[in-house]
Amino acid sequence: MLSNPQTKNQTETVLQTENLKVYYGNFLALRDISIDIPKNRVTAFIGPSGCGKSTLLRCYNRLNDLIKSFRAEGKVTYHGQDLYASEIDPVEVRRRIGMVFQRPNPFPKSIYDNITFGARINGYRGDLDELVERSLRQAALWDEVKDKLRASGLSLSGGQQQRLCIARAIAVQPDVILMDEPCSALDPISTLRVEELLHQLKEQYTIVIVTHNMQQASRVSDMTAFFNVEPTEKGGRIGYLVEYDRTEVIFQSPQQQATQEYVSGRFG
Ligand code: ADP
Repeated sequence: MLSNPQTKNQTETVLQTENLKVYYGNFLALRDISIDIPKNRVTAFIGPSGCGKSTLLRCYNRLNDLIKSFRAEGKVTYHGQDLYASEIDPVEVRRRIGMVFQRPNPFPKSIYDNITFGARINGYRGDLDELVERSLRQAALWDEVKDKLRASGLSLSGGQQQRLCIARAIAVQPDVILMDEPCSALDPISTLRVEELLHQLKEQYTIVIVTHNMQQASRVSDMTAFFNVEPTEKGGRIGYLVEYDRTEVIFQSPQQQATQEYVSGRFG
């Protein structure tokens, strides 16, 4: 079982990897990743395609377990607990550490049932109406859907569907929300709404977001990790962490030349 998160201070580390290596079969996708994710902050992962951003994100809620060829070496801890220890239940991990995907993926059910689905499975004993309203309010969607809670989640616009997915993630009372390019399928106005939402959500949740959009990373995140790929002799490409710092440092005065070149749009 996972123990309950403590609330010591605002900069406590929630997720930590130490010398993490990830393989898909014999292919080394990520090497030597050591990174601490702080509580109640938005941390952005940026870097060119294929550098392992999504792979690392999926290590945090054990979603890679579903990929047969996946293998990890090194440590991933959540509030100090080894997430890959044998006694840890991956289903419980995914409740604590929720995920929002690139394409909005509401269940083909009503808005109401989308929100209550996870709570019902987890045997939630509270008031479901209250849970629905609270989750939708937190996801800044309540006012738009309060009169049509029985309508299908699929009847909403793309931006609303993504906020519904955020509300669904919130409804199971997670501690962390992982977001894998959550705005890449959205129009600019819907994107801005989700970005505004992140500022509110981080007061209660720890957020890690993968984004291809550097303006988005600089607008929404407190911390930014820049990943890159290095070629191997055999023609492979290994992802690694180049630099991790406060977002303003990464964008204004990074230590590494590769970071400077990437954030100024010179490659990637
Ligand atoms: P990013 O999110 O930065 O684009 P990914 O984490 O998706 O990078 O991918 C990192 C590397 O791992 C890439 O070379 C990709 O082809 C490989 N990869 C990702 N998922 C799988 C998988 N399920 N099986 C095999 N290789 C994979």
